[in-house]
Amino acid sequence: MEFNYTIIYSKRKTATISVERDREIIVRVPEGLSKKKINEIILSKEKWLLEKLNHNQKYNPHPSNKEFVSGETLIYLGRNYQLQIVQKPVQNVVFDRRFIISKYNQANANKLFKDWYKSKAIEKIKPITKKYAKHLGVEYKEIKISEMKYRWGSCTKGGNLLFNWRIIKAPSYVVEYVVVHELAHLIEHNHSEDFWNIVSIQLPNFDKAKEWLKQNGEILEIDF
Ligand SMILES: [Zn+2]
Repeated sequence: MEFNYTIIYSKRKTATISVERDREIIVRVPEGLSKKKINEIILSKEKWLLEKLNHNQKYNPHPSNKEFVSGETLIYLGRNYQLQIVQKPVQNVVFDRRFIISKYNQANANKLFKDWYKSKAIEKIKPITKKYAKHLGVEYKEIKISEMKYRWGSCTKGGNLLFNWRIIKAPSYVVEYVVVHELAHLIEHNHSEDFWNIVSIQLPNFDKAKEWLKQNGEILEIDF
């Protein structure tokens, strides 16, 4: 059995393996540990890993339960807004203290809303990332908004930042936290005490955001 996994080297004495919500396997190992040794560790945990990876219930996405009819609500930046279906042929999604779409677009609403949320996500996340990257003195390459279902954000070794468009359903302070979290990983690749210190200096009340995600994580896993 071949496993795909990401290795994170750091100044630590022991190795740990975890399976993230998107089924990515992360191995955290002491600096200098050989690839061969790491592979041995992975294989010694094969049974456990297969169990984790096949645990469908936990990882399955939820289907969207929206019918896109007048009176339904959609969440945006932590608040619920009503949807109104109008008879006129309005283009795309109009947002004006409520969501408006044309009845002609009702069948296509799922895609329209996804596009709308994605464009809002990039519009809101870009300036926040720029601001906190400056505060932290870190540089990043690109910001991408993605379809990933189980994580709010991630960063690559090359300095690209990836954010789940669904995060834009959360209140602004939660969006800020997710951005700062990923930027802090450009300094500390793990969740060490140093990492949380970096986050808390930028966002002293980050616990509140973490709690929000914990309480509302589920609604961010469905599309709308
Ligand atoms: Zn993290």
